[in-house]
Amino acid sequence: MTTTFSVRSAGLRPEGRPSSERPRFLADSMHGKLARWLRLLGYDAVYAKSDDDQLLLEAEASGRVLVTSDVELFRLATRRSVRAVLVPLEGIERQLATVAQEVSRSLGLDLEQFFEPEATRCSLCNGELVGEGDGRHYVCISCGQKYWEGSHWTRIEQTLKSAKRIALNSRVARTC
Ligand SMILES: [Zn+2]
Repeated sequence: MTTTFSVRSAGLRPEGRPSSERPRFLADSMHGKLARWLRLLGYDAVYAKSDDDQLLLEAEASGRVLVTSDVELFRLATRRSVRAVLVPLEGIERQLATVAQEVSRSLGLDLEQFFEPEATRCSLCNGELVGEGDGRHYVCISCGQKYWEGSHWTRIEQTLKSAKRIALNSRVARTC
């Protein structure tokens, strides 16, 4: 089976970057969609339906940035020195912009670089993608999902572009 969207833009840096340099994310159960978008950007992003205590433990143990819209959970994370970002409940562009601001602020990553997609993650299962044949096709080593560079990428790029615009225009993020 091949997905209906692609995973890479024309602007992909050919040399890529090791995924270990990139922040990893743990989204709470409200943010499965946001986790998939983070994967489209090449980030290691999982989401869990666990309760607050389990989420905090998992974020603590894994070093992942906790992504939530739950103010109470965010406060608990702050108190336990778990890196967390409080994102708006709705609106994928504003959510991505908020995550980008937090990551650029706390990890010293360039805000614009955050939005440069890398074809490294399966948006379905978070597995790593490897190139196949002509360099326009990819396959997930975990679930076997195939990806290709298709026209749907244009729409994805529009969303990323507007998220980037929001991030650059309003640099105030509520973070710990
Ligand atoms: Zn997969």
